[in-house]
Amino acid sequence: MTHPAHAADRVTDGSAGSRDPKTYDAIVIGAGFAGIRMLHELRTRGLTARVLERGYGPGGTWHWNRYPGAHSDTPSWVYCFLFDKDLLQDWDWNERFPGQRDMEAYFNHVVDRFDMRRDIQFDTRVTSAVFNESIDRWLVTTACGETFECTYLISATGVLHAVIEPSFPGVEEFEGESLVTGHWPDRPVDFVGKRVAVIGTGASAVQSIPIIAGDADRLIVFQRTANYVLPARNVALDDWQRNAIKRNYDHLKELISRHPFALAQELPNRLFSETPPELREGAFERAWELGDFQFIFFTYDDMLTNPEANAMGAEFVRKKIRAIVQDPATAEILTPRNHPIFSKRPPVGVNYYETYNRPNVDLVDVRANPIARITPRGIELADGTEHEVDMIVYALGFDAATGSMSRIDCRGRDGESLREKWLRAPDTFLGLTVEGFPNMFMLSGPGAQFSNFPPAIEGQAEWIGRAIDHTRAQGAETMEPTREAAERWAATITQIAEATLVPKGAEAGSWIYGQNIPGKPKATYFFLGGVPMYIEMINAEADAGYRGFRFASVEARTADPVAHTPRR
Ligand SMILES: Cc1cc2nc3c(=O)[nH]c(=O)nc-3n(C[C@H](O)[C@H](O)[C@H](O)COP(=O)(O)OP(=O)(O)OC[C@H]3O[C@@H](n4cnc5c(N)ncnc54)[C@H](O)[C@@H]3O)c2cc1C
Repeated sequence: MTHPAHAADRVTDGSAGSRDPKTYDAIVIGAGFAGIRMLHELRTRGLTARVLERGYGPGGTWHWNRYPGAHSDTPSWVYCFLFDKDLLQDWDWNERFPGQRDMEAYFNHVVDRFDMRRDIQFDTRVTSAVFNESIDRWLVTTACGETFECTYLISATGVLHAVIEPSFPGVEEFEGESLVTGHWPDRPVDFVGKRVAVIGTGASAVQSIPIIAGDADRLIVFQRTANYVLPARNVALDDWQRNAIKRNYDHLKELISRHPFALAQELPNRLFSETPPELREGAFERAWELGDFQFIFFTYDDMLTNPEANAMGAEFVRKKIRAIVQDPATAEILTPRNHPIFSKRPPVGVNYYETYNRPNVDLVDVRANPIARITPRGIELADGTEHEVDMIVYALGFDAATGSMSRIDCRGRDGESLREKWLRAPDTFLGLTVEGFPNMFMLSGPGAQFSNFPPAIEGQAEWIGRAIDHTRAQGAETMEPTREAAERWAATITQIAEATLVPKGAEAGSWIYGQNIPGKPKATYFFLGGVPMYIEMINAEADAGYRGFRFASVEARTADPVAHTPRR
């Protein structure tokens, strides 16, 4: 059998390197949106940088998630780099929501266009990063034993990268083929004539289920949590649309900079509470037809704060499920009841609910009858029922926000482990820095914005570049946040989240609250105040002279080691 953890082809642990540390100003871990954008920012400052990436190509999410139907959920014209006018003009998107192949091609275009390959080392997994207090530098080690020394350690390891691997008893014994959506092999996978199981009904499963159902002899979907699945309404873009997008980028960027989720549109400017009851449903119907996240961003401004608005939106989707799915028992299992809509990131699908009307598709409710174990022939449930299949697709989600960095043995001052620190609480300052980890910066770390990610990532990369400039301009060796600043940030993001209905998703296992991982602390892992507010807050910190940070230099510590010890 193919063990799921090894399903992705060509994953290696890097070329054997010399034992001597190679020295750079900055090491960036990861070559997705964040790592590539960060490299550009470092280069414009003349800093030496090496990007270490465990995949064999650029793209991050779009390198690994090759499962059938993998597409973005945010439109191509906002799900891209905005920093370079010429880049915006010379790339043509094929669809409203680009697929994995297009995204991968885009990333290859970007790294070639900016001659970045010479600074990116692929097939290189970082296993540890240790801060050496005697020289104020980080020592980074890879899986093959190569070492790097740097002043600035920059994590661009991804918000949704650390895949939850299947841990059911018997996983190893399955005699068929096992696949994991989050590291899908780079080769054709043939479902024709096969009996296939998909375990999970989150975003990746929702995209792949209709495609697999079209090919497989039989598809059995194992669902633990029912979600509100919104229709994607993806369309191909024609030349006229592509040209219109390119011509209007200045305006689109202006819209993106004002939108809480970094989309290129205005908010509805309409409150549910002020809309006459007889007109309320119309906005939901229009948004459902427009597709995707329009169901929140084109309906009512108070969808996430007004329980009545949210309840009506949720009930609207439930009615749609009942109208689409012909078998009432199946419709009932698919109907979400235990969380407000948008308290978890809703999956977006193409013909998702319609797929359950196919005669070759079955749905199993594993909340009612859990998976007991994987057998050599298939999946056995708690009541002893065995479903025999030829292939199992695991779509179990991600250890979001903290997962990738926690898989690296990262140690700051006094050998403190980042993994252990975050097992107590995922504290950061601004989602960009961690107390006790000097000169370590993160893009999309815990406590950073939740949105259409790339525009916010660009704001973070600029902020990190500016912070490095400031540190160097002061003649300081290190910069790190104070404990008070980190505590203040944790309180701020919790307070912002609590003004919304999002915390209610925690009970339904939301990864926004870390509740899809047993033992992960229940906390607010994201800034939910919107990108404009997030960018304003991080820039305000810089404009005010980085009051939440301590800067230290070797000379100052030597002169008065006690006064300048950064830890409290
Ligand atoms: C299937 C899917 C669809 C998504 N769709 C959208 C969408 O429509 N809109 C949206 O805004 N967001 C979407 N996201 C979220 C998406 O992750 C972000 O949009 C964006 O791609 C994040 O970029 P990044 O560079 O921060 O992280 P990633 O793209 O995850 O890149 C992180 C990189 O770090 C590397 N890495 C991690 N650990 C190590 C290590 N130890 N050593 C070396 N390299 C390492 C990884 O291999 C990876 O290449 C989606 C996520 C998934 C999984």
